[in-house]
Amino acid sequence: MSGSSFAKFGGATSCYLIDADGQQIILDAGTGIKNIPSVFLGDKPINILLSHTHIDHIIGLPFFTPMQEEGRIINVYSVPRNGLSTYDQLSKLFSSPLWPVGISDYPADVRCYDITAPFTVGDFAIDFIDSPHPGGSVVYSINYCGHKIVYATDFEHTGHSIPELTELAKNADVLMYDGQYTDEEYENKRGYGHSTPRIGMKIFENSGAKNLMFIHHAPEKNDDALLELEDAVRTDNIRYAREGVNLIL
Ligand SMILES: [Zn+2]
Ligand SMILES: [Zn+2]
Repeated sequence: MSGSSFAKFGGATSCYLIDADGQQIILDAGTGIKNIPSVFLGDKPINILLSHTHIDHIIGLPFFTPMQEEGRIINVYSVPRNGLSTYDQLSKLFSSPLWPVGISDYPADVRCYDITAPFTVGDFAIDFIDSPHPGGSVVYSINYCGHKIVYATDFEHTGHSIPELTELAKNADVLMYDGQYTDEEYENKRGYGHSTPRIGMKIFENSGAKNLMFIHHAPEKNDDALLELEDAVRTDNIRYAREGVNLIL
C-alpha cells in the first residue's frame, strides 16, 4: 500500500536485510528489496533466502537493481514445492505473459538453490522448520557468532507449530513474528496461514527471545491502525516493523 496514511510503517511487502560484520542475507524479495541502498550491498555476491514463493515475497526481484549488473552473483535459496525447484518456481513469475524476460536473461548471474536441510551461507548457519501456511512456507533461524534471528513470516499457529517455533526461537536475539490479524479477525481467517500478536507474545515469552518484532502487517491497516495495535503491546523490546528502520544488536 502507499499514500500518506501508510508513511510511518511503510507499504512495501516483505524484505529484510541482515548485515553481520559486512556479511549479508536478504530475507524475502518483496517490494521492499527495491529500497535497499546499493551502497549497503557493495559488489559482493548477494544472498536471498525465500520463506516461500507467494507473490508478495518475490515480486521485488524483477525490479531489484543488481539484477541489471553484468555477472553480479545473486544466490536465491528456497524449498522445492509441488515438484518445482526454486528456479522453476521463480520462472513462473519470470515468464510470459506475466513478465517478458526469464531469470537467465538478466545480466546478473542468478543462482537458485533448493534447500532440504540446514545449510551455511558464509559464516551464517541457517536452520528452518515448516511453517503452517497454504502451499507451505518455512521459518528460518539465522545464526552468526552466537547471535540468532528467527524469521517467522506467513506462520499460522496450528498443530505442533507453537512448540516447534518456541524451540527454534529459544534465546534468539530477535523473533520476527507474523502478527497480521487481531484475535477477532483471526476467527474469520483460520487456515489463511497467518497469526496474531497474542500468540506471538506467548511464543516470545516462552522462548526467552530478547526482542519481538511483529511483521507482515495486513495491507488494509494504515499507520493509525498499526499505531493503536502497537500501543497495546509496545515495550523497549517489542515493536511493529517499520520500513527503513535498523535494529542494531
Ligand atoms: Zn504467503
Ligand atoms: Zn506473505
